[in-house]
Amino acid sequence: MFKKDACDLCGDCLVECQWMDVERDQAEEWMKQMINGDKTPVVDRCITCYACNEICPQDANPFDLIAELQEKYHLVPQDTINTSEQRYLFSGELKDVPKADRVMSICVFGKTDGHLIQGELYDLPRVGGKPYFCWILFTHMGAPSIQEKHAQEFVDRLAMTGAKEIVCFHDDCYAMLAKIAPEYGITVPFRPVHLSEYLVDYLKENKDRIKPLNIDVAYNRPCASRHTPEKEHFIDELFELAGVNRVERAYDREKALCCAGVKSMLGMGDAKADQEKNIRDAKDAGGKAIVCLCPMCMQSLSTVAEENKIPLIFLGDIARMALGEIDPPV
Ligand code: SF4
Ligand code: SF4
Repeated sequence: MFKKDACDLCGDCLVECQWMDVERDQAEEWMKQMINGDKTPVVDRCITCYACNEICPQDANPFDLIAELQEKYHLVPQDTINTSEQRYLFSGELKDVPKADRVMSICVFGKTDGHLIQGELYDLPRVGGKPYFCWILFTHMGAPSIQEKHAQEFVDRLAMTGAKEIVCFHDDCYAMLAKIAPEYGITVPFRPVHLSEYLVDYLKENKDRIKPLNIDVAYNRPCASRHTPEKEHFIDELFELAGVNRVERAYDREKALCCAGVKSMLGMGDAKADQEKNIRDAKDAGGKAIVCLCPMCMQSLSTVAEENKIPLIFLGDIARMALGEIDPPV
């Protein structure tokens, strides 16, 4: 949530935004207006990439303020939000809840992206589907209150496994458990484990089986990663263990460009030019493939990546390739 008392109105959040062109004086003025609850052009232009929450030197969470105003000023019609909420609601009784010290949560990707959740890495008790949806999508829809409303039930359902550790397949679920739910005052009674940490541990335990991949890749950092930058070092460790060179590119780390999928979803214009800019940068930097942590990024970027003849690789597949379970595409 936005920490009004921490904000010194420096304007960095809006000046550094890659999705709008804002001068510092204007940024300061708009921040003042938004803190007063007023609408500014930011409310309509923000594509919800969360970057400014990471950029803010005071950790004031400026995106959370913008999101509140997107809800207040109905960026997305209430009917659309209600229909979407109904789509993800689960009201039945949970069946076959696995009981184990370590459980993987695969979010709602079992049906759409099951091919990414294959092989020995994923051979552990798991939960997934609607009951285990983390609701972060709704902050992308200008409805942060829906995310907050369902946060406790998300934590409670995972806690029913009795696990000491929940491995999060999706970055969004990790962000919810490691950062957002605690900010709501929700106690998370297990340790959330980010997929990258899990993969690093797995490769370390199987170090003698690793065949270095020796490929140059560009990394595509997803939006939710902005919530938990402290775990980013695991991405580098994973690449190092797998013998992958992460090329230096303009749009990486704090300067990462999100996949722009939300831009299309919210009808904020054609995302293709942004995606082409992102993929051109990856290629110009020498990337022979683009590694994605988020399956949604892979879906958003797939057409443009194919047109530009650069393969997309899911982060988990880097570990599978290093273990010889599947072949590298390049
Ligand atoms: S939210 Fe942070 S970056 Fe934005 S004006 Fe306030 S202190 Fe500066
Ligand atoms: S969330 Fe992203 S698009 Fe929105 S203001 Fe912050 S940096 Fe800009």
